[in-house]
Amino acid sequence: MWRVGIVVALHDETSTARTITLELPDWPGHVAGQHVDVRLTAPDGYSAVRSYSIASAANSERRVQITVERLPNGEVSPYLTQEVVVGDRLELRGPIGGWFVWRSQQTEPVQLIAGGSGIVPLMAMIRSRASMSSTAPFRLLYSAREAGAILYRDELRSLSAADQSVVVNYVYTRIVPKDWPRPPGRIDATLISDTTWPAGLGPTCYICGPTPFVENVANLLTCSGNDRDKIRTERFGSMGERK
Ligand SMILES: Cc1cc2nc3c(=O)[nH]c(=O)nc-3n(C[C@H](O)[C@H](O)[C@H](O)COP(=O)(O)OP(=O)(O)OC[C@H]3O[C@@H](n4cnc5c(N)ncnc54)[C@H](O)[C@@H]3O)c2cc1C
Repeated sequence: MWRVGIVVALHDETSTARTITLELPDWPGHVAGQHVDVRLTAPDGYSAVRSYSIASAANSERRVQITVERLPNGEVSPYLTQEVVVGDRLELRGPIGGWFVWRSQQTEPVQLIAGGSGIVPLMAMIRSRASMSSTAPFRLLYSAREAGAILYRDELRSLSAADQSVVVNYVYTRIVPKDWPRPPGRIDATLISDTTWPAGLGPTCYICGPTPFVENVANLLTCSGNDRDKIRTERFGSMGERK
């Protein structure tokens, strides 16, 4: 079923990513980690559908936020990040997904691992944890090209400063900030062992990002002793050629 959402706010997260806030009077509510499909239809009837994770907390009634990273040659993401204006109507289907979700009843340690815009559904989990006053201990390992590409940076900083049970670690693949302790690089076994929950604590792990990123990290987590059944993954696409 397609619903119509009205764009009520736009916020640039970085030079290439924009958060769109939509108001949907008939929104049934969602769980952190779910996504929506967005359908754009041209005047000639041609339509394109893309999936976007919901960024907003689970209890955000009637309002849904998505954050879209612009791909230079993309069909839909340039439109959503550059053309959409407040007052526009967008067609949405969802919420979708029942496995890659975090519910506030979960009390076990949570390990979040994001690659690029893969942070979006994980941010919904972090926001849901905060808004529902959950005490589940969360760790986030967030891989980005460079500091300027980090989404929600200020909010992540204040959430982790306000609550020691939310620990955030960054890894940069291309350019590191001055005096950063690690050279640019990808997530590896050392980083997993230095920054993620010990497997013995039985964390539920959520990995989201490009397909090769997700597969690599899932493999590293399994090799470090994490139970496969506790590793949940969401793939944003097969972007082997992109870094
Ligand atoms: C469940 C799910 C949730 C998603 N959530 C988000 C989200 O929260 N935010 C977000 O920005 N995107 C998200 N995506 C990706 C999104 O659906 C689109 O694939 C993306 O916006 C590109 O669409 P496009 O029409 O601009 O590019 P297209 O015209 O579809 O593709 C253009 C080129 O970019 C490549 N490409 C496609 N997708 C990506 C990508 N994600 N990264 C790098 N290269 C890509 C294609 O292979 C192609 O070469 C999600 C995907 C899925 C499956």
